[in-house]
Amino acid sequence: MTQSEQLFAQAREVMPGGVNSPVRAFGSVGGVPPFMVKASGPYLYDADGKEYVDLVCSWGPALLGHAHPAIQQAVHEAVDRGLSFGASTPDEVRLGELIKARMGGVDRVRMVSTGTEATMTAVRLARGFTGRELIIKFAGCYHGHLDGLLASAGSGVATLALPGSAGVTAATAAETLVLPYNDRAAITAAFAEHGANIAAVITESAPCNMGVVEPEPGFNRFLKETTAAHGALLILDEVLTGFRASDAGYWGLSGRTEDWTPDLYTFGKVIGGGLPTAALGGRAEVMDYLAPLGPVYQAGTLSGNPVAMAAGIAQLSNATDEVYAHIQRQSEKLEAAMVQAFTEAGVNHSIQRVGTLFSVAFGTAGEGVHNYAQAQQQEVFRYAPFFHSMLEAGVYLPPSVFEAFFLSAAHDDAALDRVIAALPAAARAAASATN
Ligand code: PLP
Repeated sequence: MTQSEQLFAQAREVMPGGVNSPVRAFGSVGGVPPFMVKASGPYLYDADGKEYVDLVCSWGPALLGHAHPAIQQAVHEAVDRGLSFGASTPDEVRLGELIKARMGGVDRVRMVSTGTEATMTAVRLARGFTGRELIIKFAGCYHGHLDGLLASAGSGVATLALPGSAGVTAATAAETLVLPYNDRAAITAAFAEHGANIAAVITESAPCNMGVVEPEPGFNRFLKETTAAHGALLILDEVLTGFRASDAGYWGLSGRTEDWTPDLYTFGKVIGGGLPTAALGGRAEVMDYLAPLGPVYQAGTLSGNPVAMAAGIAQLSNATDEVYAHIQRQSEKLEAAMVQAFTEAGVNHSIQRVGTLFSVAFGTAGEGVHNYAQAQQQEVFRYAPFFHSMLEAGVYLPPSVFEAFFLSAAHDDAALDRVIAALPAAARAAASATN
């Protein structure tokens, strides 16, 4: 028995499914998940001493690579000053300023601890500000595990092929309208019917939880214009894409050039540098509706935690243009190698990309994936053999075809060469997969 096998057996006696977040259980790819004990640069190390090139990067936060010296140092120094003060600190002001400086339309920032908290608060704030109830979300978008947004959610909900979640009341589910992504006619129709009662549209800035799906040109601007015309708000969820798809998230590749801003953003992952921090931000008029200024309540014992703030500041301060250019270049190099390997093995596929983020979809050549229905119709069964061939060769991919590949500033040519060398055999495994 390997250490990971032993740990997984033990873990299942302690945690449901042996995990603290469902997709880690390898449900859709099968097998025993390696238990990780160390991470450094582009590498992860499991309990059996095996080294992996990591293309998950903690699901996004490790933008600079694991254990980046600047973040480690900032965290060590913060730890030496104490772990949590339960009071205002200079560093939460500083991190808020760094976020404001990069994103258009952010006058105010409120720190929370997880992306779920950020979207939950944004939804409550939108309802409080507009005095309306309905929220529009898109099928295949994941916004965390708050009750109202689990219907047709991506990420682990998609991986487990669930329609939503048990435990969500019918009344709560009825307050969310789920529409197909990239479908302007559906949005126009929903506003025509319910416009006076729609508080907000929430959308992933670019969906990355049904695999990566690019918004059609002008789609987010259309959402902004439509919500504004009906007195509703646009919540742009940049928890995953924020400070990763580009220096200013996916907004930096769309709103910045198209000259629009959402009413509210949600951030997470990268801004915590690997520690639990997330935030919402937006225009002052809306954000100041939050307590203590406004009537919408929100609070958190560990919000703005000083150690997490130090990590976030170190991360964003070191997330330079060169970092994004490097990740873009390396991810394009990897994409090219994947296309070559799949093509040589005769695997029908498409590469889905937004900024530095990409994913693969099977059986979608020529068409690509533009919404959740198409994502679900792909040849999902090809991913598990591909994944396991790569894992065997020491490459840690996301354990679901519905997740993006994440690279970091530490993914140098040596790391990438190992991934590229493993691709031909893995592509052949995908080619010979049967449903
Ligand atoms: N929003 C998006 C777009 C996400 O990808 C995620 C998590 O993956 C969340 C929200 C929820 O964040 P967290 O897992 O920190 O609660």
